[in-house]
Parts: sequence; C-alpha cells; structure tokens
Amino acid sequence: MTGLADCNNFFVSCERTLNSNLIGRPVVVLSNNDGCVVARSNEAKRLGIRMGQPAFEIKDLTRSGQVIALSGNHLLYREISLRVHDVFRRYVPQTIDYSIDEAFLDMTGIPVGELYGIGMAIYNACQSEIGIPVTIGFAPSKTLSKLVTERCKKQCEPIGVMETDDQRWSIMEGLPISELWGVGRRLTRRLYEAGIYTIADFARRDKSWVRSRLGINGEKSWLELHGYSCIELEHVERQLQDSISESRTFPIDIDDYDYLRARIAIYAADCAKKLRGMRGLCKEVGVMLRTNRFHTESGYQAPQGSLSLMTYTSDTNIIADAALAILDKIWMPDVMFKRAGVWLNDIIADVPSTPSLFEEYEVREHEHSRLMQAVDKINGVVGHNVLKLASQITKGHVGHNDGYSSSFGAPFNPTTPKF
Ligand SMILES: [Mg+2]
Repeated sequence: MTGLADCNNFFVSCERTLNSNLIGRPVVVLSNNDGCVVARSNEAKRLGIRMGQPAFEIKDLTRSGQVIALSGNHLLYREISLRVHDVFRRYVPQTIDYSIDEAFLDMTGIPVGELYGIGMAIYNACQSEIGIPVTIGFAPSKTLSKLVTERCKKQCEPIGVMETDDQRWSIMEGLPISELWGVGRRLTRRLYEAGIYTIADFARRDKSWVRSRLGINGEKSWLELHGYSCIELEHVERQLQDSISESRTFPIDIDDYDYLRARIAIYAADCAKKLRGMRGLCKEVGVMLRTNRFHTESGYQAPQGSLSLMTYTSDTNIIADAALAILDKIWMPDVMFKRAGVWLNDIIADVPSTPSLFEEYEVREHEHSRLMQAVDKINGVVGHNVLKLASQITKGHVGHNDGYSSSFGAPFNPTTPKF
C-alpha cells in the first residue's frame, strides 16, 4: 500500500500558524506580484473564490473585509514544509517529498489494519507540533492514494484507507476525470470528447484503447487505477529542478559589451520562462563568462558571480535586471569571451499543487503575473522571443546563428516589428 499525505490549504494554513486571528475566517494567499489567488481557506472556497482567480476580481470582498488577502511568504512556507516532511519521515520508513505540501508514503510490509492508526498519528503530530492540518489517503497505488485523499478532503475526514474493490469504484465514480493525477486541461477536453467524464469512465475503457490514445503514461495511470502500482518513485521525484541554466558558445570570440549584455538578457528571459513553466520561483541568479580555452596567450578566464534577490520571483524583468547587474560586476574590458550563461538557484514551488504527468510544463493562467502570461503567450503563438525586454536587443551584429534572433542589422524600430 501507498499513502499520500497532503497538507490542507497549505499556504493559508502556514499563515494561520503565525496569526490565529485568521482561523475560521475566509483567507486567500496571492501569487508572486499579488496577481491571483494561489491558496484558499475552506471559508474562502465556500464564498466561491476560485483557484487562480485574478486578485482584482475579489477586490470588493477584500476591501470590505469579508476576505483577507495575503501576499505570499515563501520563506515561511518552505520552513514549515521541511518540518511537515520531517514528521512524515518519523512515522514512515520511506517517503518521497513530492511537492512543497505533499509526500508519498511507502507502506510496504505494513498490515492494512494498522494504516488508519499510523495516519492518525501523523495527523495528530502535524496538528499539535506544527499547527498544519493534513489529509492522508492509503491505497494500492499512488494514483489511487491521491483519489482517496481528494475524497477525504471533500468529506472533511483526515484519513482514508481504500481496502475493497467496491470502495475503489465508488471513489472513481464520484470524481471527475479532471481530478485524475496528471490530467490537465487539454487532456480533460480530449477525454470529454471521447465520452469520458468520470475517472470510472476512464478505468472502464480497454487498456489497449488507453494505450493507443494516451501512450505509455496513460496506460500506467489506467493500471494504477486497477490497483497495479507502476508509477515508480523516480518518476515522481524532482518535479522542481534544483537549478535552471541557459548558456551558449558563441561562433566567434566576443569583446563587445552591448552584444554580451543582450545575450545575458536573452538567457535570463529563457531561464525565467522555464521557471514559470515548472511553476517555480527562484531567489538566486548567477552569470558566467568563459574565454576560449584554445587561445592561451591571455590565459583562461572564467569570471562568474551570483546575486540573492529580495524575494522569490519568476518575473523576467527582475531576473534579467539581476543578471545584467552581475554582468557589470564580472565583465572585463578587452577580454574576448567565447561562452556565456545564466543560472537560477534556490527554486521553490509557486503553487502548492501537483504538476502534470502527461502535459509537461503545462502553463496555467494563474501561475504568473498577467504581463509574463502575455509575454509567454505572444512568444508561443508568434514565434520564439518575438517580444523581448529592451535589454535583449542589440545593434550591429548580424548572422550569429545560435538559435536566437535578437540581432538587428538596422537600428531597431519598434513601429515595424519583425515577425
Ligand atoms: Mg495540499
């Protein structure tokens, strides 16, 4: 059996550990830049506030004091996350930290009759020691344990154990296909078109139909729903990378500051886009420059530096500004550089929920500010990097074909965009 331990309304619950006045009241936590709702208390859910709802839409409720809206305190969330995961480890020999507020619990070898008691012990420890409410579902596979947890949350029960086939079908019958682990919006639409509305509808299809339409990952989900555990630990680990980097070797050695500056801005923008794609925020930005190893007369130079941001962010402007500030510190005049790159470190989750299994880097509207959304959307529809920061543009370098198109032979004229 596998367990899934999931903190309830995690960001809101963290805020409540610091301020007991928030208990029992409608509370939401807003995303990076206060753009939209990323966590809701049960009271806020009952008012009809949606996950991802833009903050301006609930302005009347927050102004009148009916709803309390808080900016995210990601340092606090991360600290509490570490403590919660420590409690899980105390009771279960092997756990996988799946996201900031979820962990899978490997219950191999433990009699089914003892699971409820272990779950209650974890629930009580999290509640009394940290003040965080958790829900834990036990089932024969990871996918099923997530369904049990969902069902328990709906029924306000802290612990659930799936023991019989009847329980399995009744839970699958009661949950829409969009709540199946790994099914995002696009896949939901495709499955509706195929007449699949509930998770039970999906489980009743032939395995071969699922395989032909959804590939190996779809088949694995189907098998998991039938009680075969086949999504392995390594597949669910590391949804958030520890760091992101972008670097390139230039076709010629470069000592032009403006050119390097534009390159660094482009790499920073690409890193920020990747970061938003995996629903992360970062706090450290780094830049490196390298000279040509084969031109030894001036000696090999590898200046690099990093900078810690004031807050966690995924905003291209902030990340690019930091990268350019580092470039100014490490750049050396009259040195020819052959390679440059940007990296992001200290990455944490922006939203306390599960990334998609099938739809890698599915970008949902609520994840980032409206500006970044618009930039990503336009670049996605029109072409790579059509819309850029001013700092990504340089003049006078034509023909460096390294996968980017930021070089302009003529002075850049913003009224005639180059599509
Ligand atoms: Mg949660």
